[in-house]
Amino acid sequence: RALALAGVQNLTPYQPGKPIEELERELGIRESIKLASNENPLGPSPKALEAVRAQLGGIALYPDGNGFALKRRLAEQFDVAPSRITLGNGSNEILELVARAYLAPARNAVFSAHAFAVYPIVVQAVGAEARVAPANGPDHAMPYGHDLDAMASLINADTRVVFVANPNNPTGTWLDEDAVHGFLKRVPEDVLVVMDEAYFEYVEADGYPDSSRWLDAFPNLLLTRTFSKIHGLAGLRIGYGVSGEAVADILNRVRQPFNTNLLAQAAAVAALDDTDHVSESVRVNREGLVQVMDACRERGLGFIPSVGNFLSIDMGREAGPVYQALLREGVIVRPIAGYGLPNHLRVTIGRAHENTRFIAALDKVLRA
Ligand code: PMP
Repeated sequence: RALALAGVQNLTPYQPGKPIEELERELGIRESIKLASNENPLGPSPKALEAVRAQLGGIALYPDGNGFALKRRLAEQFDVAPSRITLGNGSNEILELVARAYLAPARNAVFSAHAFAVYPIVVQAVGAEARVAPANGPDHAMPYGHDLDAMASLINADTRVVFVANPNNPTGTWLDEDAVHGFLKRVPEDVLVVMDEAYFEYVEADGYPDSSRWLDAFPNLLLTRTFSKIHGLAGLRIGYGVSGEAVADILNRVRQPFNTNLLAQAAAVAALDDTDHVSESVRVNREGLVQVMDACRERGLGFIPSVGNFLSIDMGREAGPVYQALLREGVIVRPIAGYGLPNHLRVTIGRAHENTRFIAALDKVLRA
């Protein structure tokens, strides 16, 4: 271990949840529900499933290493050349490609406190410095959200990348059009701004920007989105980046030749075409968010107002034991102490009956 880069030695690995079957066996429970990883409770589009089935016979062959059909589909959607699209094995892989291509020891990346857990991993893995900006305080209108001024002031001559999550996970906070545009104008042009929009499709807040409109004005902007959330394809691992030609060309140089697989590419194209599934997923999430937020208010539980498909709820005490007790009730949520929020639990918004079950379990656990 001592031979590894210092940055790697200091890393805390990403903590994935245990497989459901394993958990159920350990706890002696059955029929638990997982509201822990911000997946789509409706699952994928039936059209995406059909596309996967249609491709199964082809898995002996390597996939299209350039993802031609999917890039063409995305290029149409964003009205850019296909050469400006980067496909990744999940949008996480795009974040990693960024780190490998732009970071190294003696360079740094800036991101916010309470931001997505993969940023420190990819940065430290290449020996670069992670400069973590203080976030908004708990009483701010966007509690624990990104403070773009604080982030901008951490940028120095060695900064090559800034990660902005809009909205952010696990806070669900977001940045408006003026804030993002002002930030883009302020960041030096030799610093890549990664605008991580994994939850883009869920957001209904007025003034939430589609940052793709700034791609032409800012060649240092890379937006990333994913098929893991609204499209319900987390298990297939596929996401994408949209940027200027130069950034896409750089990312393409470091990626593995067949980084996205056959089934994922086909499912993704079909998922983009199923706009009904997307709007139904947005509707179910909107209603579910209201259901869970109302339940919190009725119980006097604080929460971080979220525009994503999850809500981080303040347990008013150390949340780890509450998480453990919920597990024994068969409800799997996510403790976020590792994100610097030890009293909060993040729950993914499910279908109405799943939210009801979460709320009932929470009542039981908090009473005990
Ligand atoms: N960014 C954010 C903010 C996320 O919450 C996630 C998923 N947890 C991702 C990126 C990565 O998702 P994926 O790799 O599945 O596309």
